[in-house]
Amino acid sequence: MGEAEHVLICVAWPYANGPLHLGHVAGCYLPPDIQFRFERAQGNRVLLVSGSDEHGTPITVTAEQLGVNPQDVVDKYHSINKQALLDLGCLWEPNIDPRGVEFGGALFNRTSDARHKELVQENFLSLLEAGLFEQKTMQQYYELRADDGGRFLPDRYVEGECPQCSADGARGDQCDECGATYEAAELSNPRSKMNPDAKIEIRDTDHFFYRLDHFQKMLEEHSSQNWGVWKPNVRAMTKQWLDMGLRPRAVTRDLEWGIQLPLDGEEWQGKCVYVWFEAVQGYYTCARIWSERHGQQAGHPGGESAWESWWKNGEDGSQPRHLYFLGKDNIPFHTVIWPSLIMGLNHASSGLTISTPASLPGPGELHLEDNVPAMEYLMLAGGQFSKSRKHAIWLPSFLDRFDPDTLRYYLSINMPESHDTDFNWPDFVEKVNNELISTYGNFVHRVLTLAARLDDGSGVNPLAQFDDPSSLSEETTKVEGLHEQVTASLRKHRYKEALRGVMNIAKYGNQLLQSSTPWKYLTPPDDADEDYHRERATSLSRLAFSWRICRCLAILTNPFIPFSAQRLWQLLDQQGEVSESAWASALDWQEGMTWSKETPQPLFERLELEEILAQEESLAAAEKGTQGEDPAHNVKGGKKKEGEKMNVPPEGTKYLDFETFLDVELTTGRIVSVDDHPDADKLYVVKIDDGSEDGRTVCAGLKPYYSIEDMTGMQVVFVANLKPRKLRGVMSEGMLLAADDGEGAVRLITIDGDISPGSSVR
Ligand SMILES: [Zn+2]
Repeated sequence: MGEAEHVLICVAWPYANGPLHLGHVAGCYLPPDIQFRFERAQGNRVLLVSGSDEHGTPITVTAEQLGVNPQDVVDKYHSINKQALLDLGCLWEPNIDPRGVEFGGALFNRTSDARHKELVQENFLSLLEAGLFEQKTMQQYYELRADDGGRFLPDRYVEGECPQCSADGARGDQCDECGATYEAAELSNPRSKMNPDAKIEIRDTDHFFYRLDHFQKMLEEHSSQNWGVWKPNVRAMTKQWLDMGLRPRAVTRDLEWGIQLPLDGEEWQGKCVYVWFEAVQGYYTCARIWSERHGQQAGHPGGESAWESWWKNGEDGSQPRHLYFLGKDNIPFHTVIWPSLIMGLNHASSGLTISTPASLPGPGELHLEDNVPAMEYLMLAGGQFSKSRKHAIWLPSFLDRFDPDTLRYYLSINMPESHDTDFNWPDFVEKVNNELISTYGNFVHRVLTLAARLDDGSGVNPLAQFDDPSSLSEETTKVEGLHEQVTASLRKHRYKEALRGVMNIAKYGNQLLQSSTPWKYLTPPDDADEDYHRERATSLSRLAFSWRICRCLAILTNPFIPFSAQRLWQLLDQQGEVSESAWASALDWQEGMTWSKETPQPLFERLELEEILAQEESLAAAEKGTQGEDPAHNVKGGKKKEGEKMNVPPEGTKYLDFETFLDVELTTGRIVSVDDHPDADKLYVVKIDDGSEDGRTVCAGLKPYYSIEDMTGMQVVFVANLKPRKLRGVMSEGMLLAADDGEGAVRLITIDGDISPGSSVR
């Protein structure tokens, strides 16, 4: 193994206006913990950073509705969420790595931290001085009070009728009914959400905008360098943003609850920095605060600059590795916006200004993200988890009732890596009982109870006399091969595949027991001859090797199901914490065999579906009583008949209902004309003859792949019933189908031969 790497693991900051639900856990919080434990076991120096995102309007809205201070809301949920993550086994504590401070540690901070505010303000000023902000005047609703005072209303504080579908109760920037987005001034009958009777009017207000456009070229280069590493969803979202062409983005807003602008002018009073601008900086401030409060005190050689080992490219060409964990809705913030801020900070600290082109980080500068293994969504019984609609299973309440490892197992084996996956109770019970317990738990329990029946009470492992791994080259090779696959999968952030590999080792162990039938040889009969003893030695040497497989499994399961991994470690009477064992030592077949005199206990308890569903019903009823809402959908997952066989798609595949597929109208057309989009660099505006009188217009990000001449006249296939959407002012009425090999080649799907435009594709 090479030199220990510096790995920074950045976890999306949970919003502190409610408890975490299982969707958050599967998408954001479990994968980085698996990775963190794996990197540690690999001997790397790992710093884990995140914390509560405590500013912004969802929190002030919650606080105003409850009639409390925003600070009360965030204090409450910061501690609830941090405790829930610790209860789930996520290693946010201790702050210092048990191997020593130079190996890093963890900090779950919060954006209301005074030092975070100070560092964000410093960064704000250096970006401002470098000319990377531009100042513009905007129009914003203003709520007047009877006494002449008043306040600006953020978009979430304005309600009215949607300019598209006329639904009432549409928000200032977006309609939940039809999904349209617009400027607040376009709303009909606008009113203040909190004080519907107050008079409101539009007023001018000045704001700063970050020059994202200055970094467009470098972001394109950076993303193309990572094209082969990033997942398809990350590439697609990033490309979509870059294709639209980046625009300056507002970094300040009219709101008191947030980080104040470090500026004196009266026009800046009552304004704060936008939450997106400061929360992403938390990855950086958190590392600095960890150094100042923990690293330095624990004697890190870098002192309060310890963070630089994890954040800065070395002068010698060495680089830290940066991994960001988040849900798919958050991708562009981490592949476009945050890297552009990092490059801006590098730019400013080199004394450069907007007049010099941006560049990728050099030696001594802040590092950009390496991989962003963003997850798709975990659905709840087919619908999206939702904090605001209370369609969720909350993490704290789940952990009150279940072994955290059952959840960790289920969410890992069902992780929404390449497509959305579903949580439902029957599937949860089936996977825990039939995989985790039947395959893994039972294997371990069989080995330990069989060995216990040989125990002579001497305290020595009774299998030791039969132990001879060097004679079992087929068996050791098999386990070594599976171990290697698990390692390779974890390096690629394929957690599901990795856990399958671990379970395959347990399956193999079961086969080994089954074929060597050690239970027949526990007590030799009085008349046992030499042949018997030879057979006995052969059989029990496999049982001894199975004991070694158990030890291997304790180390390999630790990233996924750490509580039971430690229980197994203790059942085997191994010393210390399994989490501190080296990954490679799982294959150390020379390691001495230990033995515990305790009677072996099963690692897990079986789950009873009926019991769980009954409990869910009563919880839902209780919640209904207290909240006046209808959380009965909490148990929707239980509606599936017990025993009904799930149709589980193969790895990497998402099944689609036939009906859903039929809903997609694919149609042929002929491209009549192609024009550059007036307002987006990478887009074409494509006019298609689709057999109708007017034809239709589609915006397509094909500029890098086709010239106007090449495309004109082509026969293409497009999705005809996609909801029309405005892309930078041009209405796009469908989507062209094209193939993308993921390595830079994109080709349109065309028709073989001639067929009239408007033909349907089946
Ligand atoms: Zn609408």
